[in-house]
Amino acid sequence: MPLPKVRIAPARSIEQVKVALDQALGTSKVLVSESACAPYTNDDSMLEGRLPDVVVLAESTADVATTLALADRHDVPVTPRAAGSGRTGGAMCVAGGIVLATHALAQIKDIDRENLVAVVEPGVITGKLHAACEAEGLFYPPDPNSCDMCMIGGNVAENAGGPRAFKYGVTREYVLGLEVTMMGGQTLRTGRRTTKGVTGYDVTALLVGSEGTLGVFTEVTLRLVPNPPAIATVLGLFDDVHGAGAAVSRIIAAGLVPRCLELLDRATLDAVRKELPIDPRAGAMLLLEVDGEGSGLDAQLERLGGVVVDGPGVVDVVAAQDAAQRARLWSARKALSLATRKLARFKIAEDVVVPRSKVPELLARVDRIGEATRVRHLTYGHAGDGNLHVNFLWDDPAEGPRVEDATLRLMQETVALGGTLSGEHGIGVTKAAFLPLEQSEGLIALQRSLKRVFDPKELLNPGKIFPAVGHRSC
Ligand SMILES: Cc1cc2nc3c(=O)[nH]c(=O)nc-3n(C[C@H](O)[C@H](O)[C@H](O)COP(=O)(O)OP(=O)(O)OC[C@H]3O[C@@H](n4cnc5c(N)ncnc54)[C@H](O)[C@@H]3O)c2cc1C
Repeated sequence: MPLPKVRIAPARSIEQVKVALDQALGTSKVLVSESACAPYTNDDSMLEGRLPDVVVLAESTADVATTLALADRHDVPVTPRAAGSGRTGGAMCVAGGIVLATHALAQIKDIDRENLVAVVEPGVITGKLHAACEAEGLFYPPDPNSCDMCMIGGNVAENAGGPRAFKYGVTREYVLGLEVTMMGGQTLRTGRRTTKGVTGYDVTALLVGSEGTLGVFTEVTLRLVPNPPAIATVLGLFDDVHGAGAAVSRIIAAGLVPRCLELLDRATLDAVRKELPIDPRAGAMLLLEVDGEGSGLDAQLERLGGVVVDGPGVVDVVAAQDAAQRARLWSARKALSLATRKLARFKIAEDVVVPRSKVPELLARVDRIGEATRVRHLTYGHAGDGNLHVNFLWDDPAEGPRVEDATLRLMQETVALGGTLSGEHGIGVTKAAFLPLEQSEGLIALQRSLKRVFDPKELLNPGKIFPAVGHRSC
């Protein structure tokens, strides 16, 4: 995929901003050599970005404000970055200029048990926040499968989800307030520390999911919930993915709300089999998890098991025997993305969402897309939310156009089923061309106008979310 066409700052502006940053922040926070800047070029999207001219390692809100003020003065683009685990090119540098790395802002400033609130910096690794909350008997539910590496700043910018979103919702449901710095260097506080509050426009909600295009977060105030006392994990094994998809519909129609409802198709399961012994008769799996009080938990498990077995294509339903087995199941689930990457030379992981009742239909249409385009595919994901990671795999670069065709067809089918292009990875660069499939010209124009309110010169994370003007790919 070619990089989006963006304005590149003239060499003179780059040299001036380098000198100004060095003087203002000190050499240790300003990287300029090619070898030091290279690791900040790409994210996890498989795209090749443009080498940044300079990387700022921010250690404070003041460092962020100084960087954004100097970038604005010298008309140099800025790409905000946390851990770089994004899947759509959000943190990929497409315009050169400055990469503003926020990973060193990594302090958990407060975990307030009385008010169920945490205040953290954007570079806190999500898994570390989970552990810190759990040590206090509290729970921060959003759990992207990348939680051992991704950071809260990236999670807020992408509105990250994860397996537990079915019961607990995504990052947006937990962000109460933000400290945000905008191009030019002005720092504002949005939102609040209380759970309720309707003062003014909900600017916090606009910033969550803004993919680093409106401002740079330097502090995040998060809502917490009490840690559920008990958890149980169940596996539903099926002949094929269509039996598993039908079971998802039955669970939802029965009004059951497990905290996780994950689906793995045959090809995905085969990749997991290398790590875990799974019944050889199974061609698809549902990984289900419930939480709650002891006796309530048993009742939930019993109902869930009853609904899962009551349908076609069921091979077996088994409960995880102990915490160690549960941990093994989840570590296999978390490793899926990397395990399936080994199956081919190239892989793209899409992130579409359809209304939950349409999961079986989407799975059938994905099979038809695979047949029509002759592109190998596998599917897994958060079926409870209708959010499936459809992966296309190929070895020969000559297959590229067929993969592009398959991806376009997937997006068209998703929208036709009443769905949306992205459930958690964002639009970034990889999906920008598809935006007009889902959103009207008027809505895209409104969002472009909003962007210019925050960033009149369009210097912050250029080339992201919006399709290039005049493109015709859709
Ligand atoms: C193996 C694997 C599994 C994954 N599983 C999931 C999953 O289950 N659920 C899910 O939602 N995602 C998942 N992802 C995708 C990715 O981890 C998420 O999108 C995550 O939220 C990105 O966080 P990051 O810290 O890596 O952000 P980055 O990739 O560094 O940045 C992401 C975006 O945030 C912006 N940004 C970064 N820091 C700031 C800041 N301080 N202020 C403003 N904007 C900022 C960037 O400009 C960019 O647009 C997975 C990725 C991998 C590699």
